[in-house]
Order: sequence, then structure tokens, then C-alpha cells
Amino acid sequence: MQYRSTRDKSIKMTSAQAIAQGLSRDGGLFVPESFPFFPTGMLERMTVLPYVERAVTIMKLFLDDFTENELRDYAAKAYGYPNFDHRDVAPVVKTAEHTSFLELWHGPTCAFKDVALQMLPHLLSASLDKTGETKDACVLVATSGDTGKAALEGFCDVPRTKIMVFYPEDGVSDVQKLQMTTQQGGNVGVAAVTGNFDDAQTGVKKIFSDEKMRERLNARGYFLSSANSINWGRLLPQMAYYVSAYCDMVKSGDIAMGDNINFCVPTGNFGNILAGYYAKKIGLPIGRLICASNCNDVLTEFIETGVYNRNRAFMTTISPSMDILVSSNLERLLFDLSGGDDARVASYMKALPDEGRYTVSGEIMNGVKSHFSCGRCSDAETKATIREMYKKEHYLIDTHTAVAYNVLQSYRSKTGDMTKTVVVSTASPFKFCDSVLEALGENTTLSGLDLIDRLATFTGVRAPEPLRTLRGKAVRFSESFSKDKMPDVVEQFLA
Ligand SMILES: *Cc1c(COP(=O)(O)O)cnc(C)c1O
Repeated sequence: MQYRSTRDKSIKMTSAQAIAQGLSRDGGLFVPESFPFFPTGMLERMTVLPYVERAVTIMKLFLDDFTENELRDYAAKAYGYPNFDHRDVAPVVKTAEHTSFLELWHGPTCAFKDVALQMLPHLLSASLDKTGETKDACVLVATSGDTGKAALEGFCDVPRTKIMVFYPEDGVSDVQKLQMTTQQGGNVGVAAVTGNFDDAQTGVKKIFSDEKMRERLNARGYFLSSANSINWGRLLPQMAYYVSAYCDMVKSGDIAMGDNINFCVPTGNFGNILAGYYAKKIGLPIGRLICASNCNDVLTEFIETGVYNRNRAFMTTISPSMDILVSSNLERLLFDLSGGDDARVASYMKALPDEGRYTVSGEIMNGVKSHFSCGRCSDAETKATIREMYKKEHYLIDTHTAVAYNVLQSYRSKTGDMTKTVVVSTASPFKFCDSVLEALGENTTLSGLDLIDRLATFTGVRAPEPLRTLRGKAVRFSESFSKDKMPDVVEQFLA
């Protein structure tokens, strides 16, 4: 199967090339040239398989230059115990007759990005061998907290890769900082940058566009790569958990094979929910995909009006992983719904930096409306939802998941649609202890690791092992640099 760019269809790549390269040279994203459709009986067969085998089955449909055994080897490494601390990997928890939660946070960093970032490094490393690339990948990440740690865990000691993470000194929580500075592995580097996330991000972008530096690194045997969610190798593993959730619901008798279900997804960069759309496209019986926004509601406004408008104030919320104004993966949806109109997609993507907005065609809008619903949720509503859920069902959810559950409730009262719905649960509540404790009415002056203990005592829920054991870990990276020193830090790291 070939992959092509969303901005120029004549650019074609094998799956290994698309993964090794990440982003197309024209700035477009790689998408499969054609989509497979579940062969008869495949979904039935998958219901009795464990998660790793379900993931292999789905990935195999899209990666024909990888053997089944290779994919099985990567999936077993990525999702095996104790890397994921739940034997179902992505368990479905039913809380009410029509509502279940798909817990995607049983991996090493307790958030859903692990599902993709535990797989991507294996795919990338193997893609280098398959494409005859002689240089190794040096992954650079600027992080506002969660992605950095998930990328460090994913790339830790993966052959032919190195990873350097920059985090803003004043922009991450105590726990996030400790998670990164205690990272194990022989191929990892972590550095604080004085300033905020934007400073770190700008610094990394500058390194990427510095031709001279690229040449020096090339001469040393490295090329620069990124781990962000535009890489096909990061999106594909996310399709598997939609299929897996469906299989689990059939297996438990909650639904019958062939019944439609809805998914409600807390959305930022549009990667997670796009994987759900692709799962539907290849034959998974999904009714509505409900896109949940916090008050950075650029996507919800787009789904309502067909206008994508990033000209607005950026808000800081208690669901920070959804604080995004430009959702990169939407580009893939626009390409698909326009019937592969690359020129049109390219013109929208050009308008975004130029004018900060674009309006999509009626054809695309019809497509959007036929698959997606949407809604928004404020911080106050998010907290009320956490409290209510805990009181009524004794089920603890994090702030991102609460945004989705709140939006689902509004959707249901607005539409009367009581189709069985899976809320995609993207983080452990222990990752956002301060907001969760506050939501539960616990006003505390504690900070850092003490908050984790407090939430555990207060709720009687055990904190996940990777967070519980942070206290005993030695700090390996304690240096902090100014933004203009970042290139030197990278060169020293690779020396
Ligand atoms: C990244 C993230 C999201 C948003 O997912 P996208 O794929 O960017 O839409 C939601 N919740 C959590 C906890 C996340 O880390």
C-alpha cells in the first residue's frame, strides 16, 4: 500500500518511507492511497483475541512492508506487562446502561499518548532499516509536559534512535518535571529551558530549520526527527483501541455484533478522534463521533459552522492537553471528505498561517455533519462533572475525560440519542491531582508527590505504579539552559 501527501497526491511513499520521513516535504501529511475494508468475519474473529493480536491485525492492513511477526514483536514489547499494567491494555469500564469508559492510561506515563508512543519508535527504527537509511534518528521534542515523558518512555533504548526533550522551566508541574528528570535509558537527554513552552518550542523549530546544523549532524550520522502526532506511525496504533473496545463490548454481551455505537473523544490535535473516523471507514460499526472541546473550542466551532478560525485568545484550562488552536490532524479529515482534493487542502492550509482561518466547501461540511457531533465544556463544568461522577458511580475520572463526559450528557439531552456510547478516557486522574482534588471539594495546600498520596487516601483508589514510585527515583538531568543554548545542547548530546 502506498501513502501520498494530503497537499500533493503525486508524492508517493511506501509505509516505511512515510514513517521514516514523518511529514511530507510539501508540508502535507501522509495518508493511505486507499483504505482496506474488514474482510467478512474479521471483526468476529478479533473478539476472542487479546489486545496485542487485535493491534497486529489492524496494523497489518496498512503496513505491507512489515511482516506479521515483526508487528507482533513490536506490539508485544509496546503493550506487554508490566509496560501496561492492565492485562486488557485498554479496558472498557461500564458505568451505566448506555455509557462505558475506554481507559487508555494503563501505560508507563498514565496517559493515552503511550498507546501510540510505545509503538511508533519500533516502527520508526525498523523503517530506517527497511528504507536503507544509513543515519540514525535524533528525535527532538519540546513539551508542555505529557508528550515529552511519553516520548522518552517510548524511545528509551530503542535501537538507531536518540531522543532529546526540552521542557520549559516554568511551564510543567512538579510531578511532570520529576517524571522527565528521572528518565532511564542510554539514548535519552532532558534539559530545562528558561522561559515558557513557546520558548522551548521556538528553540526546537529553529534547530529544525538550521541548514548548517543539519549538515553537521548528518556528518555525524544523525538526521533530525520528531515524535509529534502527524506521523502515520503514531496515528495507526490508535485505530486499534476503537476496534478493541467494540470487540470487548460484543464479548461482554453489552452489544450484539453489527450494532452501532458512538464514541465521545476529548480532542486537541484531532489525532485520537481521527483514528476513530478511520476505524469507522474500514468497517467498524460506529454511529456518531462526538468531538469534545474545552473552552479552546476551535474544533467545535468548526464542526458547527464549517469555519476554522484560530484568530482567538489562547486559554489556559485544567485540561491542558486540549489547549490547542491548530489541530494538525484535521488536515487528513479534510483530504478524505473532499475526495482527495489535494489542491483544495493545500489552499486551506496556506490560508491558516496567512489569514488565521479558512471556510470549507459544502461537500466537506456534509461529510463532517454526517459523522461528527460536538460540544464544549468550561472548567467549572469539568469540575462539577468529576464530582458528580465520583458521587454517583464512585468512578474517578481526570479533567480531560470529564470534558468528554460532560459533552456527552449535553449531546444526549439535546438530541435524545441514547446509542450506547464509549467515552474515551485519556488520562489517569492521578496525573491531574490538584484539579481533581479541588473538584472533589478537597482544598489542599499540598504540592507535587504529596498530592498523589492525598488523592489516593481520600478516594481509596491506588495511584498507578509509575507515579507512586517516583519518590524513590534519582534525578539524572538537572541542568537548565537559555533558549539560545539549545543547539549546543543538542550537539553535545550527539557528540
Ligand atoms: C493529547 C491528549 C488529548 C488530545 O488528543 P488529540 O489526539 O491531540 O486530539 C486529550 N487528553 C489527553 C490526556 C491528552 O494527553
